[in-house]
Amino acid sequence: MKNKGFILWLTGLSGAGKTTISKALAPALQERGCQVELLDGDLVRTHLSKGLSFTKEDRDTNIRRIGFVAHLLSRNGVVVIVAAISPYRATRNEVRQMEPNFVEVYVQTPLEVCEGRDVKGLYAKARAGEIKGFTGIDDPYEEPLNPEIICNTTKETVETSVENVISKLEHLGYL
Ligand code: ADP
Repeated sequence: MKNKGFILWLTGLSGAGKTTISKALAPALQERGCQVELLDGDLVRTHLSKGLSFTKEDRDTNIRRIGFVAHLLSRNGVVVIVAAISPYRATRNEVRQMEPNFVEVYVQTPLEVCEGRDVKGLYAKARAGEIKGFTGIDDPYEEPLNPEIICNTTKETVETSVENVISKLEHLGYL
């Protein structure tokens, strides 16, 4: 049976683990016969959203573009994994309105853990005032109120998060 497309939307702070979990999810979904595309926020900003800033308006434009492309792919049967901070609840919900097959995954890692990891050294720069408007420091992050899935990366390994996502997708009838 051909799998139907859907959007698996990972939201969370910088360094929460969105990219890491997405990259581990992709092969797990492919093994289950899915065609998978990964839209990673960092990469999108070098192509589709090149030139956009981190103001609320440009962040929203970025998310709407990602949502639009993800929707085009998913309606053609592709499972689209999106890994993007996507800090604004209303904008994420706009994508949800456009795409009925939308699964929100909250990668719930506390700010202090993300900052402690500081994978890209960005938190240090934000604290030093070298980056303005950094999510979680001097820019908002609005947590999802009813995400389909929560990955708690302080309690779970990446493998456990992947297993939880897959089993939830089975439960929801996507796999
Ligand atoms: P994001 O894409 O959300 O900015 P990244 O995936 O780039 O975050 O970075 C997350 C970092 O946290 C990686 O260095 C990853 O190895 C680490 N990490 C530690 N534990 C976990 C976990 N349980 N799940 C995901 N990432 C984890």
